[in-house]
Amino acid sequence: MSRQLKHFIGGRWLAGTSRRFGDIFNPATGEVSAQVPFASAEEVGQAVAVASQAFPAWAAEPVLRRSRLMMRFLQLLERGTPRLAEIITAEHGKTLADAEGEVQRGMEVVEFACGIPALLKGEFSENVSHAVDSYSLRQPLGVVAGITPFNFPAMVPMWMFPIALVCGNTFVLKPSEKDPSAAGLLAELLKEAGIPDGVFNVVHGDREAVEALVAHPAVDAISSVGSTAVAEQIYRGASACGKRVQALGGAKNHMVVMPDADPAQAVSALMGAAFGSAGERCMAVSVAVAVGELTADALVQALAEAMRKLKVGPGDQPGVEMGPLVTRQHYERVCNYIELGQSEGAKLVVDGRTIGVKGHRNGFFLGATLFDRVTPEMQIYRDEIFGPVLSVVRVADYRQAVEIINRNEYANGTAIFTCDGGVARDFVSAIKVGMVGVNVPIPVPMAFYSFGGWKRSLFGDTHIYGPEGLRFYTRLKTVTERWPASQAKGPDFRFPSNG
Ligand code: NAD
Repeated sequence: MSRQLKHFIGGRWLAGTSRRFGDIFNPATGEVSAQVPFASAEEVGQAVAVASQAFPAWAAEPVLRRSRLMMRFLQLLERGTPRLAEIITAEHGKTLADAEGEVQRGMEVVEFACGIPALLKGEFSENVSHAVDSYSLRQPLGVVAGITPFNFPAMVPMWMFPIALVCGNTFVLKPSEKDPSAAGLLAELLKEAGIPDGVFNVVHGDREAVEALVAHPAVDAISSVGSTAVAEQIYRGASACGKRVQALGGAKNHMVVMPDADPAQAVSALMGAAFGSAGERCMAVSVAVAVGELTADALVQALAEAMRKLKVGPGDQPGVEMGPLVTRQHYERVCNYIELGQSEGAKLVVDGRTIGVKGHRNGFFLGATLFDRVTPEMQIYRDEIFGPVLSVVRVADYRQAVEIINRNEYANGTAIFTCDGGVARDFVSAIKVGMVGVNVPIPVPMAFYSFGGWKRSLFGDTHIYGPEGLRFYTRLKTVTERWPASQAKGPDFRFPSNG
């Protein structure tokens, strides 16, 4: 019998009782490596109850103590990075270097969270009226839930819980069922760091667990990251229940290549941004918008050459640049898109389906794929493929590039490659996208900024982590106070004012 994962509730590892399980694969071999239990609504309720019970004591802890525990967690993470990266590679398939990179970016949010005491300060105004002072403070919400996708099994949970916890909330994480083991290690390290039992919990599961979290009256807020259909569903469900919600969705990220861009820089940026992590990144560039026929011809030729040299193989082998896709189902979905692109009339320049990885016949490997002459009407342009498939869209001028991007329903990230400061400045201002790069292909904001797209890439008012994360996980209270209270006069029926 294969290894069975457990839920982490109230500081203990609990076997699933629903009798529903999902298979976890090693994408490089195609073999089942473990099974993950799918929580029932009742098991979710158990985790929420434990988190509710833990909340008052945790919220009452001095903020400095909460931040110090997070510092200990940070130290443990530093030591645990290789182990965490191995777990990620074994279940997700990305290379070890890429997995370490995601842990590193997650740790940066933990570092930010350690500094929250300085950011949780309120405001104070003395004498807003005679002997009356006023001040504001931010308080935790209660139990918050995080629902996370497969593509960053350690980083995306760390976009959420470090800030939520230091702000004084308790947390229930529902990680992706495709690569859930990283969440277990994070829970182990948090416990070792001294986070009290019940403050951080992990329930594994699928749609049933998510729906139970969204509907549970004791869950005060939901942060979710996933595909747009799921994000919208979670946003609507949680809002209808009166919850605070931020739901990050899918993407179709464009990179504009201007005629004056440094060609070598543009090609190398596109290679990393389109094919890193096999294109399974919400900030992956899936569309290169080439301005002018000459730019496009040169770009397609240089890309095709570079793509044929790309080293595809198991993520834990040295020298490998791109690993397999996460599941066979996803591999087949991406292959179907390649077939669709051909039937829609796009020019297939490099076909990744021909790739073979020696000794790994059953792995979910797909080579880098390039389509030229893709148009905005084609489905391969409109849909998020989420694989190593790059489309080149040819436009006559810069204005057309901006129009195409601004018409797209997704608006997570975008980039422009150019040597012209004026064009770059105009792009930054005119583009209707949440995260913009200038000669930077994947403009993921640092932990002390906030991450989020526009349009159908994010549902809700706040972006995730950074200062917006702090606002999301706290509620504002404003106090007006007079001392001594004994100086009471008769009642005043006018609206309080300073007159
Ligand atoms: P997904 O939407 O299939 O799953 C995300 C989470 O929702 C998982 O925990 C999953 O168990 C749960 N879920 C799946 N189907 C559900 C349903 N019908 N009802 C309720 N919950 C459900 O996404 P994925 O395939 O794991 O991840 C890839 C997607 O995530 C891509 O679309 C990618 O762009 C997106 N993503 C976005 C960001 C961002 O910051 N905007 C970051 C990472 C990933």
